[in-house]
Parts: sequence; C-alpha cells; structure tokens
Amino acid sequence: MASILIIGAGGVGQVVAHKCAQLSEIFSEITLASRTESRCALIARQIKESQGKVIATAQVDADNVPQLAALIRKVNPDLVINVALPYQDLTIMDACLETGVDYLDTANYEPPDTAKFEYSWQWAYQEKFEKAGLTALLGSGFDPGATNVFTAYLAKHYFDEIHTLDIIDVNGGDHGYPFATNFNPEINIREVTAECRHWQDGTFVTTPAMSEKRSFTCPESIGTYNVYRMYHEELESLTKHYPTLKKAQFWMSFGDSYLTHLEVLGNVGMTGIAPVDFQGQKIVPLQFLKTLLPDPSTLGSRTKGKTCIGCLVSGIKDGKKKTAYIYNICDHQACYKEVMSQAISYTTGVPAMIGAKMILEGQWKKPGVWNIEQMDPDPFMADMNRYGLSWQVIQTPEFSLD
Ligand code: NDP
Repeated sequence: MASILIIGAGGVGQVVAHKCAQLSEIFSEITLASRTESRCALIARQIKESQGKVIATAQVDADNVPQLAALIRKVNPDLVINVALPYQDLTIMDACLETGVDYLDTANYEPPDTAKFEYSWQWAYQEKFEKAGLTALLGSGFDPGATNVFTAYLAKHYFDEIHTLDIIDVNGGDHGYPFATNFNPEINIREVTAECRHWQDGTFVTTPAMSEKRSFTCPESIGTYNVYRMYHEELESLTKHYPTLKKAQFWMSFGDSYLTHLEVLGNVGMTGIAPVDFQGQKIVPLQFLKTLLPDPSTLGSRTKGKTCIGCLVSGIKDGKKKTAYIYNICDHQACYKEVMSQAISYTTGVPAMIGAKMILEGQWKKPGVWNIEQMDPDPFMADMNRYGLSWQVIQTPEFSLD
C-alpha cells in the first residue's frame, strides 16, 4: 500500500494514472498534478467512471522547486512519477531530494534552449541520491525503458557477450491526419530533427538526421516499414553499461506524409527553437507549431493499427555467434478501449507504472541514480506480460536490417 504523486497530465500521465488506479493493492493513494489542473480533473473523472476509484488532483508549476516541495510535503507520497516534460527533470529531482522521496521518469533532461539531451546532468545527482538513501530510476518508459530491459534480459539469459544492438521502433498506426505527432510535438520534433549519432567501435559517430534508411519486416504479419536511423537517449546508457557492444543503433519508422511535412516545416523555419520577433512579441516557431498540431492525447479514438518495438541483438553464446530479437506488439484500439489512449502513450505509461511498482515493492529500491538496465530485468519482464505489454523472443530471426 503506497501513495504516489504523478506529475504531468498529458498522454502519458493519463495512462500512468489509469494503470496505477487499476492496482489499488499497490498504489492505494494517487495524486495527479500538472500545470493545468483541468486536465488532471478530466483524467480523474475517466478513472472514477471506468473503475469507480477516486484519485486526487493538484496544480503545480514543475519548473518551480519551492512549489513542488510544498506539494510533495502536502501529499506525502512514497514516490514521485515524473511524466511532465524533460525540461522539468532536474527541478523535480531537486524537490524529491529536499523532501526525501524516491523519483522515476521516462525521458532524460533536456535544456529548453538547446536541442540536446544527455544523461550527464542527471547522473551528476548519483551521490546526492545515494547519500539521502533515495532511489531515482531514469527512463522507465518504452524507449528508453522496456527496450533497455529487453537488452538486459537478452544479455542475461541468451548471451555470454553482446556485440551489436539495433533498437527498432515501428508504429504501424494511422490517425488519419496528414501530420501529427504521437507524443508531445515539441519534444518529438526536436528529437527527430537532431543530428543522428550511433555507437561504433568505442565512439559515437555523427551523421545527418534521417540520412540512413532500411526496410524492416515486423513479425506476426504487422507489415514492412521504412525505418530511419536516429539518435535516442538509451544508446548513451546502454553502451556505457554494456561495454562489449561494438555497434548500437536506433531506428524508427516514419510514413512519407510525416517526412514530407517535416521537411517543408523545417525549410520554412517552423521547427526552429530560437525565438523570433512576431508583431512586437518574441515567439518560438516550434512552440507556435505545437499549438496548431493535434493534441497527442486526442489521437486515441482515431488511431488504428499496431506498434512493434523491439531489440535485435547479436553476440556470443557458448563460443558460437548468435542473434536474437525480442519485441512487443501493441494494438492502438485495444489501448484506447482500456485507458482511452493510443499505443504510444500506453507503451510508455505501462513501464512507468511497472517501474514504480518495482521500487515500491522493494525489488528495485536501491539508493542512487540508476538507468533501468542496471536493475534485475526478470521481475519487470514478468510484469510486462501481466499488465498489457506481452513480449516474445525469436532466437534465430531470419531477418536483419542490412
Ligand atoms: P504531453 O505534452 O502530452 O504532456 C506533458 C504534461 O506535462 C502536460 O500535462 C503539461 O501540462 C505538463 N507540464 C509541462 N510543463 C509543466 C510544468 N512546468 N509544470 C507542470 N506540468 C507541466 O507529453 P506526453 O504525455 O506525450 O509525454 C510526457 C513525457 O513522456 C515526456 O517527457 C516525453 O518525453 C516522455 N515520453 C517518453 C517515452 C518513452 O518511451 N520513454 C515515449 C513518449 C513520451 P499542460 O497541459 O499545462 O501543458
């Protein structure tokens, strides 16, 4: 029986709140707080109607440490789940340290004025959390999150040493809009337009954004998709924690319409993050674009199709070369039926709930700041099967990305 404070009431916050509310025996008291409290109230109403469970709501500016600390003291939670934006990671970690509460997030810190994300800022909190006897679990979404646990699970049970890793994120869903993003548009577009980096022979190699493309055929007749190489934050922690990796890459599927729109928007300057003058005001083009695009939390009812996200790993077992592929398939409409969200928010929110459960049950309670692959993958993998994200391993896949 534990009390949790969820911060952020967007697409992911909605799923975390629904999934935690389903597990009353673990998450007995839930408070959902965000900048706009009416979003929290809407989610609280959904949960009351679908499950008969009451959750509390609150307003907070998560950029403001004193406000956060006051809210944490009032709610007195055992754990704070941060599903606001990456810009708020450090302020929420500071507030957790000040109030003596464990912390979990799904995305690494990113400064608002530079499109650059890396773990250094959060890893710098290692000693502070360790000394305070508090756990901070970083990246407990799907990618990062489940993909890190998948890698740890294969490394533990299927290989003596892993040498290559390809994380392949396919979204075969269609929301019917010519252009929309499946999670926060600002964060999504910053990520997709950033230079690509992949790990090769002990260093990160930089290539232009979206310059490498492959065709990938998913298992279980999900289909064949074009996937593009891009940088993703889990490459930084996985190559650190698995130093035998010679090559590590991240691939994501994009449809032609999405790419054409993105190219045009980029060409006219709409994806820029530097402020520009507009009729006597300073505006950030990407933030303005966000206000025009569909809110990702409204895509649920109209998105049809499936996601297929997994890790293709090669290495050595008993002196022999070997390849294995581990994946989850998730159906957008099935997610909507369960928690009124599409599969991108669902596949992020469920691992956040499971990571929280691992900490609260004491299985992953360990003072310090940890990437999720540093924990024992087995109980998390068992819970993925139990709570809506079942997975499969293909030991000798007949496909590759080359
Ligand atoms: P949304 O934009 O839908 O939601 C973000 C929420 O955070 C909104 O409720 C917003 O409030 C709130 N928020 C923003 N700034 C503040 C602030 N200063 N104080 C309080 N609340 C604030 O994003 P998503 O739900 O799509 O994503 C949430 C997080 O999950 C992001 O960090 C994203 O990067 C991460 N993510 C991780 C994935 C993974 O697999 N690891 C995949 C997808 C997302 P308001 O309504 O007022 O704007």
